[in-house]
Amino acid sequence: MDQTAPSFEDATPVVLAIDDCVDVHRLLSARLKGESVELISAFDGADGLERAQATEPSLVLLDLDMPGMDGFEVLRALKEDPKTLDIPVIVLSGIQTPHDKVTAFDLGAVDYVTKPFEMAELRARVRSALRLNRLVKMLAERAQIDGLTGLWNRAYFDKILESEVGRSVRHQRPLSLALLDVDHFKSVNDAFGHPAGDIVLQELARIVRREARASDICCRYGGEEFAIILPDTVPQDAFYLLERIRESIEQTRWAKHPSRAVTISGGLVGASDRSLQTAAEWVEVADRCLYRSKADGRNRITVEDLSPVPRLSDAG
Ligand code: GH3
Ligand code: MG
Ligand code: MG
Repeated sequence: MDQTAPSFEDATPVVLAIDDCVDVHRLLSARLKGESVELISAFDGADGLERAQATEPSLVLLDLDMPGMDGFEVLRALKEDPKTLDIPVIVLSGIQTPHDKVTAFDLGAVDYVTKPFEMAELRARVRSALRLNRLVKMLAERAQIDGLTGLWNRAYFDKILESEVGRSVRHQRPLSLALLDVDHFKSVNDAFGHPAGDIVLQELARIVRREARASDICCRYGGEEFAIILPDTVPQDAFYLLERIRESIEQTRWAKHPSRAVTISGGLVGASDRSLQTAAEWVEVADRCLYRSKADGRNRITVEDLSPVPRLSDAG
């Protein structure tokens, strides 16, 4: 996903069919052709569950009566795993006792279709479940976006930094983190009004997004503070990017206050292979660097390298 511009992606939805009967897969594949979905098949419960976890499809079509792990067990497992919990499941079943239907709905199925199914009806139900899935994904994403700037919000930042720091440690990958704070922003509000201040924040967010790469994660950290997580980026390269952002902001001319430029100060931390610090420590160091930039006169970026110093025992 393009991390700098949160937007709900519109790729072809993947539909996973889990059924032990080969003919059902054949039928589905023939009859869902016109639906612009990518159909993938699993022939038993365990395989279906594995595929659901690996591919996170937009919809699961699930047979109840299968040897080994049956449909109810698969459904229960899907709903217990946070990764697959929100995937809508349509149960396809030859069993039509009310008790089974109730159990399937209670376990979290969104729909129940009785075999042999009427294809036009199943197609309509598939479309309806996919609409539901799109809506759920969109709402989940909206909850992580800052309303004023359209950047990722603080909650998303906290979550992603934690996982990126973990990834950097596990895979010994570089990582950088920048915290940016607008200089003397209070005086912009005081002199030109809060709405003018809002426009400044929106334009700064636009500049940050424009200069950052697709893999960088641009966030509004707080009021007039921004954060950028730069996966797989060594501190030196992150510094070039931050300097570009800083200069671009300094050179921006503002329609509402042409003679009042806006500048930012930044704290940048990075590690070229891995760092042993926790996410909280990364933020702490970035904050310290930011404070240094302010103390040294503002409109500058201060860098600290968190790469672990080679241990004595590693030296030849
Ligand atoms: P410094 O250079 O030390 O960072 O000075 P500063 O004035 O930027 O710092 P301070 O923390 O004193 O002021 C931050 C200001 O940011 C105060 C607050 O009103 C303003 N602010 C925070 N969020 C928003 C917002 O969403 N819109 C507007 N217009 N202003 C905001
Ligand atoms: Mg501040
Ligand atoms: Mg400030």
